[in-house]
Amino acid sequence: MPLGFIPPGGNYQPPQPDLGASRSDVEELKDKFERLKLVTMAVWTFVKDDKEINEDALIARVREIDKLDGTADGKLRLGVKKCGKCGKTLNPKFEKCLYCGHITPVSSIFETF
Ligand SMILES: [Zn+2]
Repeated sequence: MPLGFIPPGGNYQPPQPDLGASRSDVEELKDKFERLKLVTMAVWTFVKDDKEINEDALIARVREIDKLDGTADGKLRLGVKKCGKCGKTLNPKFEKCLYCGHITPVSSIFETF
């Protein structure tokens, strides 16, 4: 079970899956995708209202960010996260290192998707 998102100074916890239900990886991914859409839309409404940016500008920015990982493929693949103590690769589902137990908090909400 993935641990909840713990932002610096925050207390937001994403909804946890029903532990009594058997869930497939596809169902879990669908839930994560829907949560991603929800957070993205919430951010978009703040920006749209505050900065008076239209959707064309958003689309242009998405295309620009899409290229940050080296490939304009409609996806953004963030780098592999390393343990803050021992440096070993972290399982993306856990913020606690499986090797040394160190907890490396997420630095961005985008790491939780
Ligand atoms: Zn470690």
